[in-house]
Amino acid sequence: MLKAKMCGIIGYVGEKEANDILIAGLERLEYRGYDSAGIAVTHNNTISINKSEGRVHNLKKEKLDGTIGIGHTRWATHGPPSNKNAHPFTCNEKKFVVVHNGIIENYLELKSGLHRSGISCTSDTDSEVIVHLIAQAYGGNLKEAVCKVIKHLQGSYALCVMHKDTHELVGARNGSPLLIGIGKGENFFASDASAIIDYTKDVIYMNDFQIAEIGKNLVTVFDFDGVEQSHEIKKIDWNLEQAQKSGYKHFMLKEIFEQPSVAQESLKVTFAIRKDFSRIIFVACGTASYAGLVGKYIIEKIAKIPVVNEIASEFRYKECLISEKDLVIAISQSGETADTLAAVRLARQKGARTLGLINVVDSTIAREVDSVVYTRAGPEIGVASTKAFISQLVMLYKFAFHLTENGMSNDIVDKIKETLKLSESIRKLAEQYYTCQNFLYIGRNIHFPLALEGALKLKEISYIHAEAYPAGELKHGPIALVCTEMPTIAICPQDSVYEKTYSNIEEIKARNGKVITIATEGDERIRNVSNDIIYVPKVDDIFYPFVIAVVLQLFAYHIADLRDCDVDKPRNLAKSVTVE
Ligand code: GLU
Repeated sequence: MLKAKMCGIIGYVGEKEANDILIAGLERLEYRGYDSAGIAVTHNNTISINKSEGRVHNLKKEKLDGTIGIGHTRWATHGPPSNKNAHPFTCNEKKFVVVHNGIIENYLELKSGLHRSGISCTSDTDSEVIVHLIAQAYGGNLKEAVCKVIKHLQGSYALCVMHKDTHELVGARNGSPLLIGIGKGENFFASDASAIIDYTKDVIYMNDFQIAEIGKNLVTVFDFDGVEQSHEIKKIDWNLEQAQKSGYKHFMLKEIFEQPSVAQESLKVTFAIRKDFSRIIFVACGTASYAGLVGKYIIEKIAKIPVVNEIASEFRYKECLISEKDLVIAISQSGETADTLAAVRLARQKGARTLGLINVVDSTIAREVDSVVYTRAGPEIGVASTKAFISQLVMLYKFAFHLTENGMSNDIVDKIKETLKLSESIRKLAEQYYTCQNFLYIGRNIHFPLALEGALKLKEISYIHAEAYPAGELKHGPIALVCTEMPTIAICPQDSVYEKTYSNIEEIKARNGKVITIATEGDERIRNVSNDIIYVPKVDDIFYPFVIAVVLQLFAYHIADLRDCDVDKPRNLAKSVTVE
C-alpha cells in the first residue's frame, strides 16, 4: 500500500553558509506544511540543530555555522506539532541527522526492535526510528548504511541524511518527491524546485527506489541495491518572480487576478488523444475533483460520452470496475497528490489508459500516466487553489470539444477579466457578511460543482462552516437549516435551469432566509428574491463556471481577509497533499 505525504525537505552542500540557504529554502517550501521547522548543520565534525514548533521564521533567532546541512518543514502525521516532534532527528551520539517526508508504516515494530537493543526514541514520530537504524547499520559508508536501512522501511519517504564527519549528503526517495539541484561547486536536495531556484535551474528529478549521494562537486544516483544509475538533468522553465507576490497582499489574490492570462495560456493546449474509449473516469481530490465534476457535465452534454467522477481516496478502496475500454483522467495541480497517484497506479494495473491533467511539470503523476497534458497555470503558491482550477476547467472544456472535433472560443478570457473588476464591490458585500458562522451554497447542473467549490474555498480560508447542495435537493433536508442567520449563496444565471433555481430561491425567501444571488447582468427580476446580488457578465450557458468561479473565489478571499485569517497558509492544510 502506498502512503506518501507532504512536508518540505532541503539539503545543501557547498562553500556558502548553509544556514541561510536552508532557511530561505524552507520558507519557500512552507506551503507544504508548517507545523514545525528545523535545520541541522555540521561544522568541525559536530552537528548543530536548530528546530522549533511553528513557522520557519522561528529558526531565525539562531545562526548555525557550516557549509553542509539539511532542513525540514513538517506536516505532522504521527505525533502532535511540538519541539520534540520537529525534524531533524539525531541519534544518541549525535553522529547522524535525518529529515523525513512521508510515513513509515512499520515504525512501531522498528521502534520495539530498537528498544530491545537499548535504544529509545525521544519523539512520537514515525520518522525518528530511521536515524537510530542508520546509526546501527553504519560501517563507515553513509550511502551503504542508508541502503541497508531502507530495506526495512515500509511506507513512503523522501529522506535526507547527514553524518557529522563527511562532506556528502545522502537522499532517498520512495513515494514522496525529491529532486537534486545541480549548482557550481554546490548541490542541493529539495522537495520541489522553488526551494533552490535562486541558485540553480538544473535539476534531476529522482525516481522512486533511488538513492543519491551529493557533495560539493559530486552527484551520483543509485538504485536501492547501491548500483549506480544514469540520470537526466532538466532545466526549470519558470522563474522566481512568477513565484512572488508582485504587490498583491496575498498569493491567493495575485493568483485570482492571474486567471485571464492563465486561461489564455491553457487555451493554447491541444489534445492528441485516441478516442476509442467508451467511458471516462476522473480521479482527483478537493478542488481538482470539483473541476472533474464540471468536466462530467460538460463532456456528457457536448460529447455524449458517459463520465464517472471519482474522489481518488474512495476510488482506491472500493471495487474497481474499470477495464481497458476506459480512459482514466487524473487531475492534480501538484502532480504529487498521494490518493490520485495511487488511483492512477490502480487504473494502470487494470489495463485502463491513463491521462494526466497536471500543473507541475515532471511531477510524479505526470511521469506515471500514459500521457500527460500540462495545465499551464504556473506555480501556484496559495494553499487554496484558484488559477489551477480555472486552468483545469479550460483543459476539460478543450477536451470535450476535442472529442467532438470542435474548437473552443476564447471569449472567456475577456469575461474573466470583466468579472475581476467586481473585486471591490464583492469586498463591500463581504463586509456585511464576514461575521456569519454558516453559509449555504446552491446551484443546479454545472453550477452544482461550483457551489461545492465556493463552499470549499470559504471553509478552507475563512474557517466558516459552509455546505453546498444541488438547488433541487434543498427541500429534501437542508432547507431545515434556513434561518435569518444563515445566508445562502444562490448561483442563478440566466440559463436553461434559471426558472428552477429561481423557485428554490423563493422557497428560501419564504422562510426568511437571506439570499446573495449570483445572477446575469441585466436580470432585474432576480431582485424580487435576493437580498444582495452579484451580477456577472453574460456568457453562453456552458461557460458560466468560468465567471462564477472567480466571484466565489473573491467572495471567500475577502471574507477571510476581513476575518484576518492567514489566507495563503490556512490552518491544518498543506498545498500538495502527499499523504493519503
Ligand atoms: N511522518 C513524519 C512526521 O509526522 C513526517 C511528516 C512530514 O512529512 O512532514 O513527523
